[in-house]
Amino acid sequence: MSGDLQHPDRDPNRRQLLAQQQEPFGAVLSCIDSRVPPELLFDTGLGDLYVMRTGGVTIGPVVTGSVEYGPVTSGTPLVVVLGHQRCGAVKAAYGSIRDGKPLPGNLQAIVTALHPAYEQAARKGGTDPVETMARAQVALTAAGLRSNDDLAPLVKKGALAVVGAYYSLDTGKVEVLDGAPS
Ligand SMILES: [Zn+2]
Repeated sequence: MSGDLQHPDRDPNRRQLLAQQQEPFGAVLSCIDSRVPPELLFDTGLGDLYVMRTGGVTIGPVVTGSVEYGPVTSGTPLVVVLGHQRCGAVKAAYGSIRDGKPLPGNLQAIVTALHPAYEQAARKGGTDPVETMARAQVALTAAGLRSNDDLAPLVKKGALAVVGAYYSLDTGKVEVLDGAPS
């Protein structure tokens, strides 16, 4: 938030150390938005994070499999679902669903995946429905991962936390929404 970045783990030594194997401490599912690259937001380097990025942190089988890779194959203990302020994907999906106007081509698949978050936001109301929908999308995605057949057993035995979080473009703050280990 203060801009005091360390830029760790980015030199040739680190590259050499990781050349044969990796052991990232976390997996982050973020948005495609150019302003929310997880490695930069969390000031990490090579070998620190698995990163998946989709429009509006939407998921499907390929993305879910990618999120599961670290926790299931090598015990990665943390998954973060990172939504963000002023998400263009969520905003576009909100307008599309509200107005009954599908988006062109494959973009409609993102709209479809965001439908449950739209419905939750519509039920909640509030002054900023797009913000409410973006937060709902994080919560729904994190809850879905936390309770799926592959990850739920790891969460239950305390080997994995699936955390929902929300990034403010204005301040740089990452707010934890749910799922933090107690
Ligand atoms: Zn976004």
